Amino acid sequence: MKAWLNFSPSIVNKTIISDLIKNFDIHFNILRADITPKGGKMLIEMGGNQSEEAIKFLEKEGIQLTPIKKVVKKDEDKCIDCGACMSLCPVKAICPADDWTVDVDDKLCIGCGFCTFSCPTRAIKVTE
Ligand code: SF4
Ligand code: SF4
Repeated sequence: MKAWLNFSPSIVNKTIISDLIKNFDIHFNILRADITPKGGKMLIEMGGNQSEEAIKFLEKEGIQLTPIKKVVKKDEDKCIDCGACMSLCPVKAICPADDWTVDVDDKLCIGCGFCTFSCPTRAIKVTE
């Protein structure tokens, strides 16, 4: 699963994430983070045998978790590989392939929808 974790100012100095990784049988990736002493948020990808227990732990520690359920899909028949969508993607989920076509990595996508506004052929879409 991918999710945003929201940190309030009162918990930014706690070792919640390191405790999570140490104590649960999960794989955990930080895709993006913007956290200051005033709070912030982190985009994560998590999976593994103890994911449900890990989510409960995060919530018990005061982290608000918002799962991302959206997925991005590119219609290969409509795409003309112009690259207009690439520069708008905030997580670099859209990249040029070796053959200069445009690749979309659904695993990195956070479902923001920015790419859909730029596409001249409406080839790229974000769905639930
Ligand atoms: S929806 Fe957002 S994150 Fe996903 S590929 Fe498009 S621009 Fe990138
Ligand atoms: S903007 Fe549309 S046509 Fe251009 S590369 Fe992206 S998906 Fe393909």
